[in-house]
Parts: sequence; C-alpha cells; structure tokens
Amino acid sequence: MTRHIFVTGGVVSSLGKGLTSASLALLMMKRGYRVALQKLDPYLNVDPGTMSPFQHGEVYVTDDGAETDLDLGHYERFTGLGCSRKSNYTTGRIYSELIARERAGDFLGQTVQVIPHVTDAIKNAIRLLDADDVDIAITEIGGTVGDIESLPYLEAIRQYRQEIGRDNGLFIHLTLVPYIKAAGEMKTKPSQQSVGLLRNIGIFPDVLICRCERAMKREHREKLALFCNVDRELVIEERDVRHSIYEVPVELARQDVDVYILEKLGLHVHRLDMEQWHDMLRRLLRPQHGDVEIAVVGKYISHQDAYKSVYEALTHGGIANDMRVKIRGIESEQIEQAGCRTLLDGVSGILVPGGFGDRGIDGKIAAIRYARENKVPFFGICLGMQCAVMEFARHVVGLAGANSAEFDPQTTHPVIDLMCEQKQVANLGGTMRLGGFPCRLTANSRSHSAYGREETRERHRHRYELNNAYRDRLAENGMTVTGEFIEGQLAEVIELADHPWFVGCQFHPEFQSTPLDAHPLFREFIAAAMIHAKGALNAACARPSDASAAQDHRSYP
Ligand code: GLN
Repeated sequence: MTRHIFVTGGVVSSLGKGLTSASLALLMMKRGYRVALQKLDPYLNVDPGTMSPFQHGEVYVTDDGAETDLDLGHYERFTGLGCSRKSNYTTGRIYSELIARERAGDFLGQTVQVIPHVTDAIKNAIRLLDADDVDIAITEIGGTVGDIESLPYLEAIRQYRQEIGRDNGLFIHLTLVPYIKAAGEMKTKPSQQSVGLLRNIGIFPDVLICRCERAMKREHREKLALFCNVDRELVIEERDVRHSIYEVPVELARQDVDVYILEKLGLHVHRLDMEQWHDMLRRLLRPQHGDVEIAVVGKYISHQDAYKSVYEALTHGGIANDMRVKIRGIESEQIEQAGCRTLLDGVSGILVPGGFGDRGIDGKIAAIRYARENKVPFFGICLGMQCAVMEFARHVVGLAGANSAEFDPQTTHPVIDLMCEQKQVANLGGTMRLGGFPCRLTANSRSHSAYGREETRERHRHRYELNNAYRDRLAENGMTVTGEFIEGQLAEVIELADHPWFVGCQFHPEFQSTPLDAHPLFREFIAAAMIHAKGALNAACARPSDASAAQDHRSYP
C-alpha cells in the first residue's frame, strides 16, 4: 500500500517546499523505498506554459510533453526519477477537466460544486500516485496556507488522509521562523499562527520544518512543539544552506527527519546510503581543478528562476569535471549597448539559452559572433541554437538579413522557419512541439563523442526549426547538422568543425541533467571551457613581459 506525505507551506511563499520535498524523497530512496512526487498548484492557468518567465520562472518540460512547474526539475534532479503529466496539476487543469465532464453530461441532474466535485477531482489526481511500484508518494501543495485558492486542496488532503487512515498518511508543514534583528531574537509566532490556520480546517501537522537564517535554540523547538502540538523531535530546522541546495538532504538527515517519518508511517528504517551523494558534494564544494567562468546571455537574467535548469546543469558539468562553475549572467540587451568586449571579456564559455520573442536578439547574435570569432566554447540551446544559425548565415554564408520567421515573417532568408505541423495551430496553450523525441547523432561529431552513442532522446519546447532549404549552404561553409530527429528531417544539433567547441541543439538538455549524472553536452562544454581557460593562462604565461598578460595571469590563479 502506498503511504502519502503531504507538504504545505506557511507564512510566506518561496520557502523551498519543492527542494524540501525533493530532499525528503531522496532520503526515502536512499533508505530503499520507491518514491513518487507530485505538485498541486492553485492558480487558474491550465499549465504554466503560457506564463512569462518573469511571472513564473522556468517552465519545466517532462518527457511525456507536459509543461510544468519548475519544482519538478528539483524532483528529477534530486531523485533521478522521471516526472510526467500526473506529477503536476493546477486548479485550471482540475476545473477544465471537470467542466468538460459536466458538459459531457457526467453529472446529469446534479449541482457541480467545489465540495465534493473539485475536491474529488483533486483526490483523483493524488490517487494517480497510488501504484504497486510506489511505496511513498509525496504531494506538495503550492501557495501558502491562508490563501483563498489553496482551500480546496487543503480540504482534499484532509479527506485523503482520513480515508487512507492516520497511520498511512502524514502532514509536513514548512514554515518560516524569522530572526528579528532589532529584537535580536527568532520569532515563532508566525509559525504558530500558520499552524493555527491549518488546524481550523482540520489538518494537524505531524512534522514542522522551520526555515531559518540562524540556528534554532532548544527553547524555540520546545515552544513550537508545545503550541503546534508536534512532537519535539519533529520540529526540524532547515537553516539556509551555506553553499549549495544539494546540502539540504544532508542537513535534514542529520536531524533524522527521515527516520521519524518512516517510523510514523510504520515502515522499516533501512540503512541510509548517501555515499555517492557525499562524493558528489565533495566535488561540488571542494573541486580539485579550480574555477571556470561561463557567461549565460539571456533575456530574463534578472529573474533568478528563469533559467533554473540551465544553471543547475552548468553546475553539474562542473561536478563532472571536478571544477567550480561561476556564472556571469548577462542581459542580452546590455550587450546591444555596451558591446561584447566589455561584458564577455575573460569568460571561458558562452551559453545562449532558450527564449521567445525578438527582444534582446541582437545582443545574443553579437555574443555568438564573439564566441565564434574568438574561438570561445559556445553552447546554444533552442533559441540559442536558432540564433547561432542566424549569425552564421548572416556573417559567414553572406545571407544579409537572414532571420527567424518568428522575428520577421517576411524575411528574404528565413533560415529558421515555422515547423510545418505548427502552421495549423490556433491555440497557444500546450501546442508547441513538446516532450521527448529520439535523435540520431552523426559519427565523429562532438555531440556523438559526448554522448558516446548514436541515439539519444531529448525534450523539446519549440515551434520553429532550422529551414532545410539552407542546410547545404550552411554545411558548405562549415556549419553542419550533426543530430537529426529519427523520424524526419529535422535538425536537432548543429556544430562548427573549425572551432574548439561550438554546439547548438534544438532540444533542452538541461532538463535531463542531474548532480550525480551531468548531461553529456554540459559535461563536455565545461571540459572545453576548462581547456580554453588553461589556454588563456598559458598564453598569458608565455608573454611575461606583457603587462596585460600578467594581469590575465592573475585572473586565473
Ligand atoms: N522561440 C523559439 C521557438 O519557438 C525557441 C523556443 C525555445 O527556446 N524554447 O522555436
């Protein structure tokens, strides 16, 4: 029988419920249990696919083509488990499915209501995790307790736990214990009030996980235990981690939270095997080969979650190479004003991630040209790959004004064009080319040697593609297609032969990278950046009398 853990959040949003859920899932797995994760989001969009990254951060794409919340990225990265459409429900999706059923006559004669119909639909979504191969299901409720829109979810999980029996379900409440500087004290009152709100609706949390900046004292734990009706050992501290989110599971395990949870659920406490995880943390926190700096040239840089998976995958590439990756985030519009020399000087690799719309495109193209001409390792993802094709067509092939039809539908040289299957699309939600598709790699290419195999499967989210009418002209000038969709002539990877490492891919490799198993393209990109950094250092050493070289030397200690 599947046991259920429900994670709610209190006091404020952005406490890291996703990271905490992912960390707990990892600990349960490392104690030998089979786990599934799910996020329920209380907003009315059917999925986050139509939201701006400024609103919602990254849209995470699953292999089965769902556009989902970025917390699913944490789930996959921490556990290595694949998420799917059933791993993320929103109020919009629950309602649209319910209303479609009402129109179909499924509820003839009845009044369709929040309780029981919406709550039943939510319970059905949770029940999807009940499976023979799942020992423990973790369901995270988005939003904060006290929000009007969270209420149906809280009622649904209350009912669910009642139905499966107290011993088979557990409520974890993640809350904030702030430090008030002026008073020189930590305050437990907001958490008490948040638990009070939960109790009003019949949920009595079993575990309190307290986000805090400083260590909690015994008196705080005792106070929270007493006023929130939680066992003292189940008031857990989750202090801001010093260096990396991947330390969170270790911090939780240090307090035996996983042991208590398993005991409460009546499950045997097997040995915790975190050896591999600790080894990964050693390479992450104390890398042997120094630092490498990578520029990420995007258009949502100011939003820290907009390129979440890209940043994580770069970190994974560093772990695989035993080096620390420093990221220099650059708004592409700034390049348009300040120029590449000023902003990109000294970086060892340039990555241009995905995106939509023409704002900042000129800056991206300038950054790609800089990478190509100065032989700086370059990695273009989705829109980044498309921009690399545009740049090459304009400046090497000599096709003045070559563009993507996304930015100029009338362009004389649409080197990037709308995919055929997209021409009939009218609705914008969930209609891109989405999810995992197989790709064949050309022998002797950089991508083939990175993957070490001929076929791969990668996730997609796009409407435009490389226009095959231009393939030959690009190839004659040195840009070749080295990865192709197995079932059709669709360019998936492009490379430049005459460059140390210049790779663009139409898919999103960042969604399949984990700290224990870096994505091959990220791993090799960082390896190339490392070689570039060494080359720069050697060049600097070879010119000791040159003052600027001496300066370069200092910048690569
Ligand atoms: N806007 C481009 C397209 O739709 C690229 C999409 C992306 O980068 N995810 O094809």
